[in-house]
Amino acid sequence: MKLYFYNTLTRQKEEFYSIKPGEVGLYTCGPTVYNYAHIGNLRTYIFEDILKRVLIYNGYHVKHVMNITDVGHLSGDRDMGEDKMEQGAAREGKNAWDIADYYTQAFKKDIARLNIVDPDIWVKATDTLPEQIALVKRLEEKGYTYRTADGIYFDTSKFKDYTKLSHQDLEALQEGARVERNPEKRNPTDFALWKFSPKDSKRQMEWDSPWGVGFPGWHLECSAMSMKFLGDQLDIHCGGTDHIDVHHTNEIAQSEAATGKRFFNFWMHGAFLIIAGGKKMAKSAENFLTLENAFLSNDINPLSYRFASFLTHYRKPMEFSDEGIEAARNGLLHLQNQVRQVVAAGIGGDKAISAEYKNKFLGAVNDDLNMPRAMAVIQEMLKSSVSDTVKLTTILDFDRVVGLNLDQLDQERALPEAVQSRVDARITSRTSKDFATSDRLRAEIEAMGYLVQDTKDGMKIIKK
Ligand code: AMP
Ligand code: ZN
Repeated sequence: MKLYFYNTLTRQKEEFYSIKPGEVGLYTCGPTVYNYAHIGNLRTYIFEDILKRVLIYNGYHVKHVMNITDVGHLSGDRDMGEDKMEQGAAREGKNAWDIADYYTQAFKKDIARLNIVDPDIWVKATDTLPEQIALVKRLEEKGYTYRTADGIYFDTSKFKDYTKLSHQDLEALQEGARVERNPEKRNPTDFALWKFSPKDSKRQMEWDSPWGVGFPGWHLECSAMSMKFLGDQLDIHCGGTDHIDVHHTNEIAQSEAATGKRFFNFWMHGAFLIIAGGKKMAKSAENFLTLENAFLSNDINPLSYRFASFLTHYRKPMEFSDEGIEAARNGLLHLQNQVRQVVAAGIGGDKAISAEYKNKFLGAVNDDLNMPRAMAVIQEMLKSSVSDTVKLTTILDFDRVVGLNLDQLDQERALPEAVQSRVDARITSRTSKDFATSDRLRAEIEAMGYLVQDTKDGMKIIKK
């Protein structure tokens, strides 16, 4: 079945194609590890996980790279303010390297709790300094850079199509630039490729470079790493919508200026999680909810949050409220119970996946990851008249995408070996119309504590 994604670059839903048949290079912008991820950040990682799982479900082999931003992300937009890592270190009275390590581990734990599949390659910004410096050199040789008192900047006026992703109005930006605090910048949209360490203080993270001691600009790492690990397999690049105007726009400018080739073909962005009332959640704001303080400490299964995120399409803002969480918690419990009932209703019988519902499910997820519709298909399937064994096989197949661990609900689902071998033998004897053996096996299975029912959909085994 065809696969469609909304591409921010073209502002429309497009049929997905990959550069190499059957393979996808996927790059997702990772966390800035100066604090815990908040549940807004995590919404974006869940969306990206669904994207990856849907690609795999459609038969693609996915190579997924995620960066860890452990240097260079400044607190203000457009290269002003302090490095968030050094800020985090000062806040906690620790070394910036330790802060990075600590919050990287916390992030990995969070995504595991949400059943998000790990990327194939994790890469830290601080591990790719040579590649980042090489990229700046390449841009310098091509005449895209200039030097100011505080760093090496990219001249965005030299890159035509600077706004092709953001569709921003540059004139309006020019207007806003009157409050610009860096008078040395030639254009308000110019951005730092390399920042110099301050003369009067020593930074904890700094490196030598052809331009002086300093650290890389934040956008640089994603360009350098995606090209390093994905080569020319630059299919899909993702992040939250806040990355469109600056981070991803600058990644495109510096990458395409350096290579002369198109950077990624598909750009996909997840909308924000907002607090009821419309406020955006930010690491710096007091509305800072983590998986720990919003879920685990209240004894709520974190997969409830994963479930909740499926009820709003990824391109629509999602409102977070206590009622919403309660509803998601109940929703997940209800789904788990429905699956348990299907399990309890019978184990023998037809184990095929329902083609009708698989088709509907694929139709939903392949239509720009329409998870609200996919969840409705799951409910329709569970309430339908297909047999319980087919329901079970089908829901477990869908779980490859939804990732709610529906296969781990009931440890007793697997029949004891002695029962299973008799069930298999009885299916064979019934097929060959050897009813004497079939009756003997039924008696043996029942003596082991199971009821045997022969239905039009095959044999059902129910625990007495
Ligand atoms: P950061 O750690 O700040 O670099 O952000 C990590 C990811 O979370 C990025 O893809 C951001 O675009 C995304 N993000 C940040 N805030 C939110 C939010 N409130 N809702 C959804 N995604 C967000
Ligand atoms: Zn990035």
